[in-house]
Amino acid sequence: MSHIVVCRLDPPGKEFEPLDCWLMEYFCDDVSCDCRFVALDAVANQVPDEILASIHLGWESVEFYQARTGCDREAAERFRAGCLDLANPGLDWAEAVLVELRKEVFSDPKVLTRFRRHYEIFRRELRRRERTAQSLAHGGLNVPPSSKKLAGLLGLNKGRRRPRRRF
Ligand SMILES: [Zn+2]
Repeated sequence: MSHIVVCRLDPPGKEFEPLDCWLMEYFCDDVSCDCRFVALDAVANQVPDEILASIHLGWESVEFYQARTGCDREAAERFRAGCLDLANPGLDWAEAVLVELRKEVFSDPKVLTRFRRHYEIFRRELRRRERTAQSLAHGGLNVPPSSKKLAGLLGLNKGRRRPRRRF
C-alpha cells in the first residue's frame, strides 16, 4: 500500500512524453494533528530517480481546510484540487504533470476515498504505536518527530521540507 499505480499520462499539449505514472503516498505523522491530506510524489519508470511532482491533496470540503488553516478560499480550493508542494515542487514541468493528474486521477471520487482510507489506517497505526510507547517505562520505540502543520503546507510559513514517512 506504499504506492499505487495510477495511469498513463499523455498530455494533449505534449508538454512531456507519455508516462506511466505512479503516486507514492505519505501522511502526517504528528499524532496530535488531524490535518487530513495526503502528500504524493509522482514518479514514472521512464524518468528514473526523479520525482516528477510533489503534490498535496485534501479530500475534505473546501470549508474544512479554510476553517482549519484560516487561509483564503482560493488557497483552500487549490489544496482540495491538488497543488504542488511549495517547498519542493519537482521537475520544471511539474505543473503539467499536476494538470494531467487532476484530470485523470484526482477527479475520481473513488481515488479520494482511497486516500482517506489509507490516511485512517495510517493514523490508527500511529495512535497504536503511541499508546505502546507510553506504556513502556523507557519507550523502546522510535516515535517519529512531529511535523509541520497544514498551515505550513499552504505556504503560510514556508520552510524546509519536513521529514516524511512512507506509508
Ligand atoms: Zn498533520
